[in-house]
Amino acid sequence: MGDKYNAFQEMLQLLDRAAALLGLKQDDYITLKYPDRELKVSIPMKMDDGSVQVFEGYRVQHSGARGPYKGGIRYHENVDLDEIKALAAWMSLKSAVVNIPYGGAKGGVKVDATKLSKGELERLTRRYATLLYPIVGPHIDIPAPDINTNAEVMGWFMDTFSTLRGQLTPGVVTGKPVPIGGSLGRSDATGRGLTLITKEVLKKLGLSAESTRVAIQGAGNVGGTTAKFLHEEGFKIIALSDVSGGIFLEEGLDIPEIIDFLRAQRGRLLKDYQTPKLVRISNEELLRQNVEILIPAALENQITSKTAPHIQAKIVVEAANGPTTIRGDLILEENGIIAVPDILANSGGVIVSYFEWLQNLQSFSWEEEKVITRLENLLTKAFNEVWETAAEKGTSLRMGAYMLALDRIVTSAKMRGMSC
Ligand code: GLU
Repeated sequence: MGDKYNAFQEMLQLLDRAAALLGLKQDDYITLKYPDRELKVSIPMKMDDGSVQVFEGYRVQHSGARGPYKGGIRYHENVDLDEIKALAAWMSLKSAVVNIPYGGAKGGVKVDATKLSKGELERLTRRYATLLYPIVGPHIDIPAPDINTNAEVMGWFMDTFSTLRGQLTPGVVTGKPVPIGGSLGRSDATGRGLTLITKEVLKKLGLSAESTRVAIQGAGNVGGTTAKFLHEEGFKIIALSDVSGGIFLEEGLDIPEIIDFLRAQRGRLLKDYQTPKLVRISNEELLRQNVEILIPAALENQITSKTAPHIQAKIVVEAANGPTTIRGDLILEENGIIAVPDILANSGGVIVSYFEWLQNLQSFSWEEEKVITRLENLLTKAFNEVWETAAEKGTSLRMGAYMLALDRIVTSAKMRGMSC
């Protein structure tokens, strides 16, 4: 579905634009065009049938200017170095835009995780964690869940690291199960953050939840929890999709029933969900629905020069990382569609990761209420800062967010004298 696409090159173009608007010289931010460290690993694994397969894995540490490297690990067939480099850079920008003391990183393994048994998934994770051991740690680089990884995977990663180190080290990853150092409120933090951001935008535009129809591309952890929270807030979710395709219901989907259906069994897909009057649509058709809000919550490179002209939504809230290409973004802007950028909109996850890490470093746990209140405060502040920067400079929210983030990273790097 997309433009000729290189996620890292796209990120660099946006960085150049933000730097020009900030009046920065090339020397001020050139280091951000080169990730600090790129590690490629080969992960051998004994499959359940006794054969051995070798999987390609990566960890890219983009910028450590503002703190330890931070970012998720994804298991997906599309993983390659350029994708992971872009995702790592977006993490540097994301941490900076919400002003938490982290740099950016990302990891990935090129594998179709849906075809692995649970045992294979565990062996793959433990071997990958062993290969990453020399470059991760609670004050060095802190992984977290991303596409096709979850709390259980983080538990295995933490256990492997702790065994190698000879010391229980919960702070080496975030997004762990709660009984072994995970934070209350972490698993649905990204969806909660997206809901808050969506409501803030509506407030600015004077719209109400009840009169707002939503289409969500993706029903995984992020898409699914976002749908759940928006539904609770009175939004009408009329379309939802996953890798198997999409579903549409004019009067609004029964989100709690759909989420229960999907979560009842590993590997369940929307194609098997049935309800009267349901219309089946493709993932591309989902983007074209007549809605007020469109939420891409799957992969990169979805809103492109091909798909953007057909988007009818007034607002796009980016739950995925990098769902909109530069050319897609230009079309949205020309058509007066507001895009709330990924590095702001989906930052709820890393914000609560930060809270989890703080709790781990202090061997202490917070009540869920405290987690939620602090998430809301931090995110509302970041949203208003981005909104005001964009308004002041007469740019898009994306440029506003990039400018804020870049300014913060460059200031830290300069004060540390990092490019001397
Ligand atoms: N994978 C998530 C993201 O892209 C969370 C990262 C984290 O918590 O470190 O933002």
